[in-house]
Amino acid sequence: MSENLIKESTCAINKATQILNRGGLVSVKAETVYGLACDPSNPEAILKLYNLKNRPSSNPLIIHVNSLEMLKEIAEVNTIASSIINFFWPGPLTLILPRKKNKKVLDFAVAGLNTIAVRMPSSEIFLKLINKFGKPVAAPSANQSGYISSTKASHVIESFGEDIELVIDSGQSEYGLESTIIDLSSEKILIRRLGVIDKKLLEKKIETKIYEQNEPKKNNPNSPGQSFKHYSPNTPIKLNVKNPGEDDAFLGFGSIRLNHKPFLNLSENGDLNEAAFNLFHFLRKLDKLKKKKISIYPIPKKGIGKVINERLNRAKVNE
Ligand code: AMP
Ligand code: MG
Repeated sequence: MSENLIKESTCAINKATQILNRGGLVSVKAETVYGLACDPSNPEAILKLYNLKNRPSSNPLIIHVNSLEMLKEIAEVNTIASSIINFFWPGPLTLILPRKKNKKVLDFAVAGLNTIAVRMPSSEIFLKLINKFGKPVAAPSANQSGYISSTKASHVIESFGEDIELVIDSGQSEYGLESTIIDLSSEKILIRRLGVIDKKLLEKKIETKIYEQNEPKKNNPNSPGQSFKHYSPNTPIKLNVKNPGEDDAFLGFGSIRLNHKPFLNLSENGDLNEAAFNLFHFLRKLDKLKKKKISIYPIPKKGIGKVINERLNRAKVNE
């Protein structure tokens, strides 16, 4: 077992805080996926994080807070943002807000933009870490840029080994997919990334129309990070396959029963939440087998299934 992998505990939080304070990197579970945390006020820490992930510097980080007070130091919070926060925080919803310059979040952490992506996670371990650190924490997903996100501590170790000083093991992320990102920085409210929180639910709660921009074009991405390959296994994937080729790894869903090897089923009961929970874990498992192709059975495009399909469509892009 890796020496940098430890189970969640008060001691783990203390150690993680010390590492953040001296500019190191720590991986911690969010309810969405595992995050790779650093201090966004420390240029060396940010550089280390971008280099390790091989993340383009034009792709800004999401900044995590534990309170409205902390939020208001780094972002402008208007009435609509306040009401969304009341309904959905802490939880898997990221807001893009006008940025307030503050040395707690350097330009470098947010690609020099005058907006900032912020979130209050509901993951207890993550909140405890922010509480102890006492400042905003930057945390993208804990995977090599472009590769499948991590939903377990073991995935983080597989991706980075000993290059991260500490990985706190808190079991598997509850949702298994990233946060929804909504942009409140201009007049129209826009969904920049589909995610755990559904657009219809958002619209119902805030009684305002939300626009969806979900077909990012390479030269005109919605969010800076959307111009890059994402969520991709090294093995090419093919979607909507009902009969996999003999040499394919196969990822199924629902009542499909096949005498095929290797075969994993995202949810035998056809439960889309269970499928989301398993998605990245199973993709990583099948990728390790180094087959020619991973074929994936059709997954219904409703509710969180829409998000699963969006992720798989991005995973298929090979650049
Ligand atoms: P991740 O790297 O997995 O944490 O995803 C973060 C996403 O948030 C990326 O797609 C970023 O491009 C997006 N993002 C962060 N800050 C902003 C911002 N100010 N405006 C638009 N998108 C942003
Ligand atoms: Mg990511």
